[in-house]
Amino acid sequence: AQEKETRAFEAEVSQVLRLMIHAMYSNKEVFLRELVSNASDAIDKLRFEALADAALRADQGEPAITITLDKEARTLTIADNGIGMSREEVTRSIGTIASSGTREFLERLSGDQKADANLIGQFGVGFYSAFIVAERVELTTRRAGSDEAVRWESTGEGDYTLEAAEKEEVGTEIVLHLREEEDEFLEPLRVETVIRRYSDHISFPILLVEKIDEGEGEKDEEIRQLNQASALWTRPGSEISEEDYTEFYHHVARAFDEPLTRVHTTVEGRLKFTLLLFVPSARPFDLAMGGQERTGGVKLYVKRVFIMDEAEVFLPRYLRFVRGVVDSDDLPLNVSRELLQDNRVVRSMRQTAVKKVLEALEELSADAEKYATFWKAFGPILKEGVIEDADRREQVAALARFASTGTEGAEQTLSLAQYIERMRPGQDAIYYVTADSYEAALASPHLEIFKARGVEVLVLTDAVDEWLVNHLSEFEGKTLRSVDRGALDLESLGKSDEAQAGEEGDDKADATENDESSESQEAPAPWLGEVGELLGERVREVRLSKRLTDSPSCLVREEWEIGERMRRILEQAGE
Ligand code: ADP
Ligand code: MG
Repeated sequence: AQEKETRAFEAEVSQVLRLMIHAMYSNKEVFLRELVSNASDAIDKLRFEALADAALRADQGEPAITITLDKEARTLTIADNGIGMSREEVTRSIGTIASSGTREFLERLSGDQKADANLIGQFGVGFYSAFIVAERVELTTRRAGSDEAVRWESTGEGDYTLEAAEKEEVGTEIVLHLREEEDEFLEPLRVETVIRRYSDHISFPILLVEKIDEGEGEKDEEIRQLNQASALWTRPGSEISEEDYTEFYHHVARAFDEPLTRVHTTVEGRLKFTLLLFVPSARPFDLAMGGQERTGGVKLYVKRVFIMDEAEVFLPRYLRFVRGVVDSDDLPLNVSRELLQDNRVVRSMRQTAVKKVLEALEELSADAEKYATFWKAFGPILKEGVIEDADRREQVAALARFASTGTEGAEQTLSLAQYIERMRPGQDAIYYVTADSYEAALASPHLEIFKARGVEVLVLTDAVDEWLVNHLSEFEGKTLRSVDRGALDLESLGKSDEAQAGEEGDDKADATENDESSESQEAPAPWLGEVGELLGERVREVRLSKRLTDSPSCLVREEWEIGERMRRILEQAGE
């Protein structure tokens, strides 16, 4: 066996520890949530690895997470019979912090203890929350498939020790030597309350063991199960409280916002599967995965057995913000990512998932405030669906919200259906302007004629918008048309009442109006040719316009030309 060694934490670990203990203090009970969550993950992982490795099946006991309270020793011990860790894994997982996220974690600590408590789980620093209540932590672990156990020990102050150890069962045991003032976590009722609040949804039994001193060195044990220990998604929705749903979401998504809406459905027929999917209310920090943007995806279970994280195939890219689990009775337990790629069962589950999530979003849109929250966080991502999902283009487009010349400010609140309702009599197109910002768009001379005619124009400023309008040529039978493209036909609409009132006694506007000659019919003014010569190759043609009321001139493009922003995007891409 290897000798006992002392190692220094990575510099940042000590820093995180100190700050975290300070920041979380008013919410210190979250350490239980984090340790139980890790234990549950570890049991999931062993069950999964044992599917493919018969040798590991021998190691698999009845899954359980055991919390032992020993008042005399002043310890709280949490043990699991999950996958365990090798020495190397301990060093990697417990001696370091997902370091790319660390600095960001520190920067994000806000001083608001509740908000800060929610940060821990997202930064892969859950284990360290043990030090909020413990002055010393001993972790003994044995990796499934190995005979060697290792003990890790630290006071959370700069270094830790590692040494070989004996452990009968595979799995991990963590002993917290509680600080003097943390006696409350030796009280069974206190621990039970916390577990029920945060961990009732955990699929494996959480057992509470109370060591009772009988005197004369005799100790008795009392064991109680604290949770229902059935996979939450298998329970009927009517028996699941809002809090349980939310805590379950926190656990699977490693996020701590309140989800905005969810889909919980079981399909039974030719195929049998369950979906429990959540729409978050905030963008995740995307740091848990080593700083790379998470590609999204849900956890896949087959017959209640955890198979993989981040299974992407069950939802299209444009719904990658959705989190949750899918559980199939029809997929084989040894299913691989490759196998999922072109699979009939997956296709069917995906169809249902997309349909249900879009329906849930439609329902959510009835609540303007919640929908605005959703749209702010994920609007640009959802819009990609208009481009990607030809079958549901119109359905996704109906969920989109836009800023317009008729809405207050840059906030995207207007749906296409609302736009159509507000169209002027005789107007038959949905007009839009694309620009880098709302302000830049409003300054466009192209909008003058629309303003004069009282015609609302959508203001598109997201990077994805240029593609969106390329793919969505019409909505509910109305063509989408850029304000800077092709000939305009607003003539028949006449002026809006508002514009008319503004024009009374306004010579310039009247003059413009009288002056306007049709772009094609009338003989061109003689000076147009001179302007054309002056501009040379830079323009295709110079013609008189009806679209301006204040500005002397503007650039327009032909119906078939690509948009200005698209041209710049392609230019940047080196096209
Ligand atoms: P996260 O759970 O977000 O990865 P944690 O700090 O909670 O971050 O845990 C760090 C890592 O330590 C885990 O990813 C896991 O690899 C390992 N780990 C923690 N607790 C256990 C456990 N009970 N059994 C096995 N591995 C564990
Ligand atoms: Mg964790």
